[in-house]
Amino acid sequence: MILFLDFDGVLHPEGDASHPDGSTDFCFLPRLEVLLREFPHVRIVISSSWREKLAYKTLLKPFSEDIRARILGATPHSGFGLPHPFAHREGEIIAWLQLHDAVSEQWVALDDAEWQFDDYKDHLVVCGSFVGFDDETEAALRAHFERPVP
Ligand SMILES: [Mg+2]
Repeated sequence: MILFLDFDGVLHPEGDASHPDGSTDFCFLPRLEVLLREFPHVRIVISSSWREKLAYKTLLKPFSEDIRARILGATPHSGFGLPHPFAHREGEIIAWLQLHDAVSEQWVALDDAEWQFDDYKDHLVVCGSFVGFDDETEAALRAHFERPVP
């Protein structure tokens, strides 16, 4: 199971407090990490647009060490050496799966940008941009993590 993880509107509410310079609070990350520790089979790939602005090792800094060890990478940038132009975050996720021979893996995306997904909305847990990762989205994500491996 792979979790494609967005930052803004997920790990903290979208808004003035979010600065791609690393000063953001990541206030809901501890909550997500508690859930992830219950499901050690889940690996993480960062899909946030922060990956376009920050060095990879900087992206990993907010995570606890045990969770950081479970991060596989970040999705490729749209149109960046990909087989065909991917306009959406969904396409970047599919590209990552293809590039890593992982198209048959179970996956879920935690994101606040529903419009970035078309064909794979059933893989999406949507946070409210100004709410972030709350009780409701935690329950929805847990349901994905609890799905039996086929
Ligand atoms: Mg977002």
